[in-house]
Amino acid sequence: MKNPNDPKPRYDYRDHYFPGTEDLASDELRIIALGTGMPLVRRSQASASFLVQLGNGDNFIFDMGSHAAANLASLEIPFNQLTKVFLGHLHIDHVGDLGELWICGWLGARTRPLEVWGPSGDLPEYGTAAFIKNLKKTLAWDYRTRTGSVPEAGGQLIAHEFDFSKPGVIYEENGVTIKSFPAIHISDGAVSFRLEWNDRTIVYSSDTNPNKWFLEYARDADIVIHESFMTANTLVRRRGFEPHVAEMVATKYHTSPAQAGKVFNVVKPRLAVAYHFFNDLDTKYEVLEEIRTTYDGPLTLAEDMVVWNVTPDEIIVRQAAVADNVWPAQTKEDAAVFPTLKRGPQVVPSQWIRDGLLEFDSNMSITNHPASSD
Ligand SMILES: [Zn+2]
Ligand SMILES: [Zn+2]
Repeated sequence: MKNPNDPKPRYDYRDHYFPGTEDLASDELRIIALGTGMPLVRRSQASASFLVQLGNGDNFIFDMGSHAAANLASLEIPFNQLTKVFLGHLHIDHVGDLGELWICGWLGARTRPLEVWGPSGDLPEYGTAAFIKNLKKTLAWDYRTRTGSVPEAGGQLIAHEFDFSKPGVIYEENGVTIKSFPAIHISDGAVSFRLEWNDRTIVYSSDTNPNKWFLEYARDADIVIHESFMTANTLVRRRGFEPHVAEMVATKYHTSPAQAGKVFNVVKPRLAVAYHFFNDLDTKYEVLEEIRTTYDGPLTLAEDMVVWNVTPDEIIVRQAAVADNVWPAQTKEDAAVFPTLKRGPQVVPSQWIRDGLLEFDSNMSITNHPASSD
């Protein structure tokens, strides 16, 4: 897909993005949509997740929705380069694969802690710190059975909770500034993000109603990714919702396509990205038509594995061409320390369970059970 606003022929990029074959320029960034759909995951669309890769080598993951981990894996990036996650809010379709990234990134040769930035809630138990603490409790059996077999630092999961109500800088390192600002989404404790680096700016709404903070913080951005729900008409037709319920879901809990278009029209990004709808043949044009009632600028209706390259001069929009049967990518340095069986698991099954273990001789006959007698 070429950027329709760029009439120049494009010679420097292949028509698809093949991971590992293109270096970013020092002033270039790349965004990859890992999940663009709804809480109900489908093979065609995982739930919300976007990877931002900068020309300085930094990688940031914004939301880690359900089933996004397989799309992330398909990019064959070593997990040691995927250690920073920013959560907009704690709905399952924005955090569902965080446990997967934590544990399986660790098994995939991550030897550094996974760090998660996320908002506070109105009460401590609804904040990111509590979520991470409880995720660790939920996966206690898993964590315990792997500890000692793989480098322990990679099993660390660190929460950086920030005040959802205070717009401002939550991350500043290596020339990258990430700001959060309040989102309006059903309850207190939802935020949107603005990433600034090297004169490039990316804004990501996560989930929100249209709001005044977004108009303020999303200005002068290269790419603005804003949720755009399905139209109320689609919800009536495809889900059987009563019209007034469809209208409420589409416009009160989320942002309707016409509202998203209005937001894009005010903040005027170089390119707008609408996500958070089932992008099907009988839905996408309704979304597009509604957005076009309020916004006529550059636009992508997001699909999983769309790639945007952002340079000072142009924005390239393509699909990634990835393999299905990938193995975890690791550097030589990672492989040298992974796995470690120095200590082995901290635990073993009880003796009576271990007594049930079958033993084999060199002919693969079972030596400690009558099954070997035939
Ligand atoms: Zn949500
Ligand atoms: Zn959502």
